Amino acid sequence: MPTAQTQTITDVPMLVAGQWRASTAERFTDVYNPSTGQVIARTPLCSSEETSQVVESAAAALPQWSNTPVVERARVMFAVRELMQRHFDDLAALITREHGKTLGESRAEVQRGLEMVEFACGIPSLLMGQNMPDIATEVDAELIRHAVGVCVGITPYNFPNMVPLWMIPVAITCGNTFVHKPSEKVPLSAVRIGELLVEAGLPDGVFNIVHGDRACVETLLTHPLVSAVSFVGSTPVAQHVYQTATHAGKRVQSSGGAKNHLIIMPDADIDLAVKGLAASAYGCAGQRCMAGSVAVTVGDAADPTVESLHDLASHMRVGPTDGCDDVDMGPLIRREHVDRVAGYMDVAAGDGADVVLDGRREFDGDGFLLGPCIIDRVETSMRIWREEIFGPVLSVVRAADLDAALAIGDQCEYGNGATIFTNSGHAARQFKQHFNAGMIGINVGVPAPMAWFPFTGWNRSFFGDLHTQGVEAIQFYTRSKTVLTRWFKSPDASHHDPVWKSQGAGKN
Ligand code: NAD
Repeated sequence: MPTAQTQTITDVPMLVAGQWRASTAERFTDVYNPSTGQVIARTPLCSSEETSQVVESAAAALPQWSNTPVVERARVMFAVRELMQRHFDDLAALITREHGKTLGESRAEVQRGLEMVEFACGIPSLLMGQNMPDIATEVDAELIRHAVGVCVGITPYNFPNMVPLWMIPVAITCGNTFVHKPSEKVPLSAVRIGELLVEAGLPDGVFNIVHGDRACVETLLTHPLVSAVSFVGSTPVAQHVYQTATHAGKRVQSSGGAKNHLIIMPDADIDLAVKGLAASAYGCAGQRCMAGSVAVTVGDAADPTVESLHDLASHMRVGPTDGCDDVDMGPLIRREHVDRVAGYMDVAAGDGADVVLDGRREFDGDGFLLGPCIIDRVETSMRIWREEIFGPVLSVVRAADLDAALAIGDQCEYGNGATIFTNSGHAARQFKQHFNAGMIGINVGVPAPMAWFPFTGWNRSFFGDLHTQGVEAIQFYTRSKTVLTRWFKSPDASHHDPVWKSQGAGKN
């Protein structure tokens, strides 16, 4: 690992029309290694004018790329897949360096991103249309798909590699060109993805990177040359992006924050459920939109769950992750975020909840560390239940029965994921049918669907119609066109009645 003395702090480059270049921005923000607290790079905050130049580069590349045969577009993804496999460990190490999650978590993230690339390798099959001969007398109907145009992706800090890959492979293999605006906190993985796309042979201007904050984003949302916007981030920004970009006539998919509930039934295997709870709540230090945030214990499950979880969580190894393999939970993204998350201990205690495990303690070094936290006897009237915390904090709400647990879900403004731990098929079915969230787990702690299924957040966890991933991503990144065809018989044409018709059809 470089030391503070040897480490050079570089300005993160943009990718415009196939060229890496330094931004002319006057404002920059620091990128940290959360394990050490050191600044490792600076992200430029591009002006509106510079952002427009990037959009123009994507627009210039659009006609040729959208007319490139689909199998050639797919072949670029096969090459990206090979490159990602070859550089798998480096991609994972880079995520850990700029984000702080453990190396194991980073490897899992690269694997999920790779699966999106594999999904996009199948684009020739996925883009096939439909047809119906003789929909009326001698009229044939077909549905074909066209690219949408210049697409924009604005991504959050918590999955620097996977979330951009939710968007980029599908968008570009559908024939669109793309402008990526990564999180200013984790731009290095985005740049590495750009390098691999260029190395894979993607033509200049098909994929572009711009960096920035609000000014850059506003330009992207309203730019006349942009057709579609994909956003992933917190709910207030997701809602703003949705409203602004739809108002400007764009098609938009905008994923927001979450508050995910995990129900533990009295018949569940408590040991397995608690392992699932801990992995869900403390994986990636709680910085996942599918992280378990509220454990809802039903009936007698409460005391054994809290006791066993306390035992497990208080023995977790918390520490720096960059270059270290023997850590269960890494740092949070920034020092201010540690302070914000830790502040919820006091808020919860003030509201009358019971802080069973407080993660605040002295850690060696300057990393942005906080231990796992458990807050028991939380009520739905409390801030700790209502607000997205996005850190290693698990609240416990005690419910009398499954109906009461379902009613808690009905009060939640978010709707990403929810899981039930049970051995009862009936309880599982009730939960699956009636819980107020779009991604359901049955004895699965983090029910995040993989590339082939859409990422179906509900309520204020998603604004729009078509989600990322799966068939909805294909629909989002294409416009459908229907064609009706009739050819009139010329007067001298002979009538042809095939022999097979008179001999009976359907023999083979
Ligand atoms: P964020 O909303 O702060 O930032 C997301 C993106 O929006 C970044 O690129 C950022 O530069 C930009 N941005 C921030 N403030 C903006 C503003 N005022 N105007 C315009 N653009 C702005 O989110 P984050 O802190 O980077 O990421 C964590 C959040 O993302 C959590 O709420 C998490 O639940 C959510 N998330 C959701 C999903 C999902 O699929 N629903 C997936 C991952 C993360």
